[in-house]
Amino acid sequence: MATIIDGKALSEKIRAEVAEEIARSALKPHLAVVLVGDDPASHTYVGMKEKACRAAGVLSSVHKLNLDVTQAELMALIADLNHDEFVHGILVQLPLPRHLDQMAVFGAIRPEKDVDGFHPQNVGLLNLGLPGALVPCTPAGVMEMLKSISYTLKGKHVVVVGRSNVVGKPMSTLALLAGATVTITHRYTENLAVYTRQADVLIVAVGKRDLITADMVKPGAVVIDVGTNKVGNKLVGDVDFAGLQEVASHLTPVPGGVGPMTIALLIKNTLQAAKMQHG
Ligand code: NAD
Repeated sequence: MATIIDGKALSEKIRAEVAEEIARSALKPHLAVVLVGDDPASHTYVGMKEKACRAAGVLSSVHKLNLDVTQAELMALIADLNHDEFVHGILVQLPLPRHLDQMAVFGAIRPEKDVDGFHPQNVGLLNLGLPGALVPCTPAGVMEMLKSISYTLKGKHVVVVGRSNVVGKPMSTLALLAGATVTITHRYTENLAVYTRQADVLIVAVGKRDLITADMVKPGAVVIDVGTNKVGNKLVGDVDFAGLQEVASHLTPVPGGVGPMTIALLIKNTLQAAKMQHG
């Protein structure tokens, strides 16, 4: 029976550590969240982030823009936040409406305030293995989960399913930097199971319910389920959780797995950003 990695408990521990560091320091980290439109899921996520900030002693402000905001208006807000010395982190809640150029927005955020780690400078630093990068929260959270079970990636085969800029690619980079042999698979991969069956650590970030079934996993593998899928009003991941419990050594649940870790690492990144800006 697989051991369940409790992302909720681990995220609370990380958030408490951040809160303690903030309480001990003279820093007043401030996260500015930009929210475009009225997507209910985005509003829920932003609400959760505000709550987590409050609990950790991080100030937060939410800048709500109408769905029909222009690129120029959004860029002007980013410029204001870049110049505001009391704002240490800027997060633009995704997804953005189609008429807005997401990459241009990421590129406009000052790299030291880019708590999502999407600015090309942070992506570059991470890929070069150089210090000072703000690392994308979800893959950084997955690394914390592996650390919590004292898992050493060096020499292990990590298979990542999904190659997005937000999860799959930075996840692969972090595993590679930790000394793993990494295979990246994606929507055009033929015979996905051939690769997933080789994984010592299988990290799935796609957004397709039951994509990974027990027969696709090597016995004893660690399986991290990043995916989220709405089924009615329930949230499920990308893996057949019940089936994999019989095969995997460790497994993350959805909900209560990677999701809370993403928020904990956002809070941690905001503190890191504040520290970088205050030297
Ligand atoms: P995305 O849509 O940008 O990328 C999905 C990736 O899956 C693509 O690279 C695509 O090539 C790949 N893919 C699609 N179909 C596939 C298939 N049949 N076989 C193999 N690969 C396939 O999504 P994303 O932003 O990377 O997010 C992925 C999932 O993770 C989503 O469900 C998202 O909701 C979830 N997510 C969760 C958190 C969290 O904190 N829990 C954070 C970010 C994303």
